[in-house]
Amino acid sequence: MSDLTRLTAADLAGLLASGEVSSVEATRAHLDRIDAVDGDVHAFLHVSDHALDVAADIDARRANGQDLGPLAGVPLAIKDVLVTTDMPSTSGSRILEGFMSPYDATVVARSRAAGLVPLGKTNMDEFAMGSSTEHSAYGPTRNPWDLERIPGGSGGGSAAAVAAFEAPLALGSDTGGSIRQPAHVTGTVGLKPTYGGVSRYGAIALASSLDQVGPVSRTVLDSALLHDVIGGHDPHDSTSLTDAWPSFADAAREGARGDVVKGLRVGVIRELDDQGFQKGVSESFRASLDLLAAHGAEIVDISAPHFEYGVAAYYLILPAEASSNLAKFDSVRFGMRVDVPGGTVEDVMAATREAGFGDEVKRRIILGTYALSAGYYDAYYGSAQKVRTLIQQDFAQVFGSVDVIATPSAPTTAFRLGEKVDDPLQMYLNDVTTIPVNLAGVPGISLPSGLASDDGLPVGIQFIAPAREDARLYRVGAALEALLADQWGAPLLDRAPILGGAR
Ligand code: GLN
Repeated sequence: MSDLTRLTAADLAGLLASGEVSSVEATRAHLDRIDAVDGDVHAFLHVSDHALDVAADIDARRANGQDLGPLAGVPLAIKDVLVTTDMPSTSGSRILEGFMSPYDATVVARSRAAGLVPLGKTNMDEFAMGSSTEHSAYGPTRNPWDLERIPGGSGGGSAAAVAAFEAPLALGSDTGGSIRQPAHVTGTVGLKPTYGGVSRYGAIALASSLDQVGPVSRTVLDSALLHDVIGGHDPHDSTSLTDAWPSFADAAREGARGDVVKGLRVGVIRELDDQGFQKGVSESFRASLDLLAAHGAEIVDISAPHFEYGVAAYYLILPAEASSNLAKFDSVRFGMRVDVPGGTVEDVMAATREAGFGDEVKRRIILGTYALSAGYYDAYYGSAQKVRTLIQQDFAQVFGSVDVIATPSAPTTAFRLGEKVDDPLQMYLNDVTTIPVNLAGVPGISLPSGLASDDGLPVGIQFIAPAREDARLYRVGAALEALLADQWGAPLLDRAPILGGAR
C-alpha cells in the first residue's frame, strides 16, 4: 500500500471498511509521520501513547463483524482546548500544564464512540486567543508551506497537522475564526457550525456566546463526515440545538456532482472592497467567483454595512466573556498554584495568575474587566452588543436575496513568525471576514481557492449561510472544490515544500 498518510479520510475509511488496510497500519503510518516531521512543525503538544491499542481494538471489533461507523479506524488530532480523560488538556496555557480532565468533551466522546483513533492534542494560542499560534505557552507551530511562517490561529496545530499529513482529520474550535483562518493559511478545509449545532461541553470556554467546535480536514467531504459524528443535540450544553440535522456527508457528495452551482446566488459584500486585502488574496477570490459564474452561478452585489464593525464589537464582547470565563483559574480549583509563604488567598491567586497566564490573556482580561465595569458597561459592552444585533440584521436581510455570501477567508496569506506578535491590533485585523459570522451565530466554511500569485502561498475562500444551513455550505464548498480540482489536476497540498513538492 502506498503512503497511507496521503489519503483523504473518506478514502482511508473505504480501505478500512473493505479490510485492505487495518486501523493499526493507518495509525502507525500517522505516528511515523508525526515522528518524522513534527520536530519541525510542532503541531502536537501531546502524542497519545495508546493510539495503537485503540486502533487494535477497532480492528478486533471489525473482525468480529461489529457494525462500525463510517470513520471507524481513522486517526484524529484533537485541539487542546477540548478536554480528554487520557491525555493532558492545557488549552495552550501554562496555568493548565499537565491538567487531566475527569471527563471527555462531548465531541471527543462521540469521536471515540464512532471509532476514530485519537492521535494526540494539538497546539493552539493560549485559551484560543490569537491568529498565529504564537501565543501558545509551549512555543509556536510552524506552517508546513513555509516553516518561517505562521499556521494561523488559534487552531494552528490542528490545521498544520492536517496540512502536513500528520492526521487526516482534526477537531478545532472557532470563536472568531480559529478554524477558518488556519485553514486559509495552510491550504486546508474547516467549518464553523451554526451556533448550537455542535456541543461545547468540555470545550474550555473562551467566549461562550461565540465558541463553536468544528471539523478540520483536507477535503470538504472529510469535514462533513466528521461533522456528522460530532454534531447534534447534547443535553450537557444548554445552548445545544435540538434540530434533526441532515447528513452533511450526503450534502458534500451531492455538491461534488456539480449541479448546485447553476442558479446559485452568491452574495459579495460591497463594503469589503479590495482595500486591506493582499493582491494575491483578492485575485484568487475573484477567480473563484468567475469560475462559479462560468458554471451558472449568479454573483450578486450585496450591502452589509455593519460587517466591518465586527472586529471592534468582538474585541469588547470577547474579552468581557473571557474575563468572566477565566476567573475560574483561581489557583484553587484547577491547575497550577504558586505558593506565597505567609501570603493570603488573594496573594496566592495573584501570583498564580501572574505566572500562569501569558501577555495576550492578561491583556484581554484587563480589557474585558474594564468593559464590564459599572461606569463603562453601557458605553462599551452595551454598544458592542447593539453592533452585534445590527450585524445579525444585515445577515438576515442579505439572506433574503442570496443563498450564500462569499468572502476571502482572511486578508493576507500566512505572515512570518514574529511579524505581528508584538502588535495586537494588526493581529486582530486578521479576522475581519470571519468574526461577523460568529457574532451572527451562522455557519461558515473555508476551503482552498488556490495559491496567491504574489507569494505562492495558500488562499482560502469563505462561504457563509443562514443559521441551520450548514449542509448548504458542504454542498457549495464541495461544488467549488470539484471545479477547482479539475483546473489544478493534483491536490494543492502536493505543492507544499515540506512534503517534497515545489511551489
Ligand atoms: N483570532 C481570534 C482571536 O484572537 C479568534 C480566536 C478564536 O476563534 N478562538 O480572538
